[in-house]
Amino acid sequence: MPRGSQAKNPVVDGKKKCNLCGIVKDVSDFSIKSGKRYIVGHCKRCAVDRSLACHRRKQNQYRAKQKEYQQSLKRAAFMAYGGCWCNCCGEAGFQFLTLDHVNNDGAAHKQAAEISSGSTMYRWLKKHGYPSGFQVLCYNCNCGREANGGVCPHEVQKAQRLSSDGVHASAWKRPATQSEWVI
Ligand SMILES: [Zn+2]
Ligand SMILES: [Zn+2]
Ligand SMILES: [Zn+2]
Repeated sequence: MPRGSQAKNPVVDGKKKCNLCGIVKDVSDFSIKSGKRYIVGHCKRCAVDRSLACHRRKQNQYRAKQKEYQQSLKRAAFMAYGGCWCNCCGEAGFQFLTLDHVNNDGAAHKQAAEISSGSTMYRWLKKHGYPSGFQVLCYNCNCGREANGGVCPHEVQKAQRLSSDGVHASAWKRPATQSEWVI
């Protein structure tokens, strides 16, 4: 019979207190350290919890790495298409930006290239040397364009303002330096 090695929690009447959860359990609820003849300090339940927590930690690390990689792909694509800002309104918040098919052929392109939106798209663009036909837009302008037959409502507003006051109203302020970008 292996002894309960932990002096602080010895086996008493076939029972032992777990080092981790502190619950007094039957010795059969504790593993026996292989090769060594003593009972491990934590119960089997805690052993499972501990390996699950480790697994979860590794999974989170993996996800964070993956996200980082996807963000870098996205950033590289934006830079290849003029920079991290909306080509229509000048929005420079990285999280607001997406790539737009200039010729509104996004659906056909995705189908032909067998890609979906997001990271597969950014990977495809990188692999194909960032071909022309794309521009950086914010989601607002991207959706606005889609809803307005391929022309962002901003363009209509700009044209209206231009004709009413004669001022070149389309001149939004593009951030001049990288430090002004909101990332
Ligand atoms: Zn336990
Ligand atoms: Zn925009
Ligand atoms: Zn717009």
